[in-house]
Amino acid sequence: MKYVSTRGQAPELDFEEALLTGLARDGGLYVPASWPRLSQDEIAGFAGKSYVDVAQAVMTPFVEGAISAEELKAMLAEAYASFGHRAVTPLKQMGDNDWLLELFHGPTLAFKDVAMQILARLFDHALKGKGRRLTIVGATSGDTGSAAIEAFRGRDAIDIFILHPKGRVSEVQRRQMTTVLDDNVHNIAVDGSFDDCQALVKAMFNDMTFRDEVGLAGVNSINWGRVMAQIVYYFTSAVALGGPARPVSYSVPTGNFGDIFAGYVAREMGLPIDKLIVATNVNDILARALNSGRYDVGTVTPTISPSMDIQVSSNFERLLFDVCDRDGPGVERMMQQLQQSGGFGIPEGALTKARTCFAADRADEAETNAMIRRANETTGELVDPHTAVGLAVAERHRGDASIPMVTLATAHPAKFPAAVEAASGLTPALPPRMADLFEREERLDECANDLKAIEDFIRARSRVAAA
Ligand SMILES: *Cc1c(COP(=O)(O)O)cnc(C)c1O
Repeated sequence: MKYVSTRGQAPELDFEEALLTGLARDGGLYVPASWPRLSQDEIAGFAGKSYVDVAQAVMTPFVEGAISAEELKAMLAEAYASFGHRAVTPLKQMGDNDWLLELFHGPTLAFKDVAMQILARLFDHALKGKGRRLTIVGATSGDTGSAAIEAFRGRDAIDIFILHPKGRVSEVQRRQMTTVLDDNVHNIAVDGSFDDCQALVKAMFNDMTFRDEVGLAGVNSINWGRVMAQIVYYFTSAVALGGPARPVSYSVPTGNFGDIFAGYVAREMGLPIDKLIVATNVNDILARALNSGRYDVGTVTPTISPSMDIQVSSNFERLLFDVCDRDGPGVERMMQQLQQSGGFGIPEGALTKARTCFAADRADEAETNAMIRRANETTGELVDPHTAVGLAVAERHRGDASIPMVTLATAHPAKFPAAVEAASGLTPALPPRMADLFEREERLDECANDLKAIEDFIRARSRVAAA
C-alpha cells in the first residue's frame, strides 16, 4: 500500500515510512492511496474469530509489502496480551438494543492503548535493520501521553517526549505519565492548553532543521498507524451484533476525530455502518462544523471530559480530503484559511457526502453528569465522563430501534475519579495492578509555552541529537 498526503504536495510513502514520518512535509496527514475493500463473506467470516485474528485480516492490506503475516501476527498477539480482558474490547449491553464497547482494558485504562500497544511494536519493527534512532514528540490532553509512554518505555532506539497542559490533566492521568521513570521517557508540563501543546508539536514538525536533527517522529492520532489499529474494533463489535447482515450505529466521544475516523474507514472498507455519531462536549467545533458547514475555531473551555477539550481537530483533515474527492490543493486552501482567519467553509458537495454517514451533537456538563448518574441507576455501570458524553448524544439520536447503537466507552471510570464521584456519589476503584499509583515517585519538567525553549530542552536530552 502507498500513502499520500492530504495536501497533495509531499512524496508518496510506503507503510513504514508513513508510520515513522507522522506529519507529512507539506503539513498534511498521510492516508492510504485507496481504501481496501473486504467482501461481505470475508466480514461474515470474522464471527467467532479472536480479536488478534480479525486485527490481522483488517490490517493486512494496509501493511502489505512491509510486514510478513507471521511478524504481524506475533506483534498483535504480544500487544493485546497486555489487556485485562480476553475479548480485548468486550461489548456490554446497556438497554434493549444499546451497547457499550469497552475500549479501556489496556495498561493505562483508555482506548489509546489499543492503538499504542501495536504502534510501538510497528515502530520497533520498522527501525530494526535500518539501524535508525528516533525522537518521538507528542502532545496529550491526558490519555495519549500515558498510553504512548507505557508502550514506548525502555525501547532502545526511541526517546519519547510528551507535552501536557500543566494542571489540566487529571491526577491519575498525570501520574500514569510521570511515574514512568525509564531513561528514555521525558514529561514536559507546558504552561498552556492542549491546543497550545498540539500547536507546539506541529511547529516542531514544520521546523525542518530541528526535525532532521532529532529524527522527529509522532504518535499523536495524526499517525496513520493509530487510525489503522482502531478500525479493528468496529469490525469485531459489528460482527458480534449480527453484522454484516445487519447495520450498526456508533456514538463516538470525539476530540481529535481519530477514533471516529477509524469508523469511517471501516465503512469505506465495506462494513455496513448506519450512522457514525460525533459526540462532543461543549468544545463542539466538530458538531458545529457538521451541522452548519463552517469550521470555526473558538476558545477551549475546560470540562470534566478533558481528553475532548479540543478546538483544532487534526484528523478532520483526513475526512475533508476524502469527501472533497481527494483534492489536496483544495484541502491546502482550507487549512490556510484556518491558519489565517480561524475558520473555513466546507464545500456543499463535501458536506452532503459527510452527512450521509455522520451525525453530530454535543452534551454539556449538566447532561454529562446526569448521564453518569442515570447509567449507574439503570444498569449498575459506572461510566467515565467521556463515555457519558457518548451515551447522552446517542440517546438523543437514537432513531431506528432495530439498529444496534454502540457507544464507545473510551476510558475506565477510575481514570476520572473526581468527576465520577461528584456525579454519582460512588468512587470507582483502580484495578489492582495500579492500586499503588498515588505512592509512586514522579518525574517531570516544566516549560513555558515557547517553541525555542522546548526545542532546546529536547535537543539537550535526545540521544539522536547527541549521536
Ligand atoms: C482521546 C480520547 C477521546 C477522543 O478521541 P479522538 O480520537 O481524539 O477523537 C475520547 N475519550 C477519551 C477518554 C480519550 O482519551
